[in-house]
Amino acid sequence: MRQQIVAGNWKMNNDLAQTESLITELKKQTKTSKAEVMVAPTFTNLFRAFDALRTTDIEVIAQNMHFAENGAYTGEISASMLKSVGITTVILGHSERREYFNETDAMLAKKVDAALANAMRVIFCFGEVLNDRKSSNHEQVVESQIKNALFHLEASAFKNIVLAYEPVWAIGTGETASPEQAQDMHAFIRKTLSDTYGKTVAESVSILYGGSVKPNNAQEIFGKPDVDGGLIGGAALNAADFFDIVNAF
Ligand code: PEP
Repeated sequence: MRQQIVAGNWKMNNDLAQTESLITELKKQTKTSKAEVMVAPTFTNLFRAFDALRTTDIEVIAQNMHFAENGAYTGEISASMLKSVGITTVILGHSERREYFNETDAMLAKKVDAALANAMRVIFCFGEVLNDRKSSNHEQVVESQIKNALFHLEASAFKNIVLAYEPVWAIGTGETASPEQAQDMHAFIRKTLSDTYGKTVAESVSILYGGSVKPNNAQEIFGKPDVDGGLIGGAALNAADFFDIVNAF
């Protein structure tokens, strides 16, 4: 059975005091599902969050990293720096990174390689914009995003890759892909994996859905056979809502 995962992306929210109080609230919640739970605070709060959650089964993960090991990249953070503070999973390719920081498929391929070379796990995000969906280009766009950034990898690398389908038109907009739209795309992604890497690999990779998942829609979305969990933005900033989503499985 594939690993079910619910990951909260806190984005550029919460200073240190706010991070600590959200962690205090998270620790009061009870998990009734088997889903693996992760939260991604901002860089400055990673170590404090890691330390505060180390006795729980909530994993602290990073929102981004650079592909270089070190050097003249002002403002950037490397895989080994993340590992040195206990972080072993990183989100790469979020649509906000692609849109506001010009991250390309080629750059993301290098980031994926750097993360895997450092024995990190990657949550790789991708998804179409509204115009792609309106013009029925969404499958083509998603296929090329996945192929360009990931299909140079050996099959064995996929044990450290989690995919996150996030239609850009559904992120932070309150608009969600319907459970059927999510399932159709997840099945397409799994077929794309299977065509190149075979059924065993395709069946083993967790594919998360992201885009306005809330306590009131999580159960229906997670009920679809190819949806293995969620990447949660806004609703992850409230501990009770986040755990309602975690427990929607
Ligand atoms: C996200 O940013 O990955 C996301 C899914 O955000 P939201 O849940 O707020 O749409």
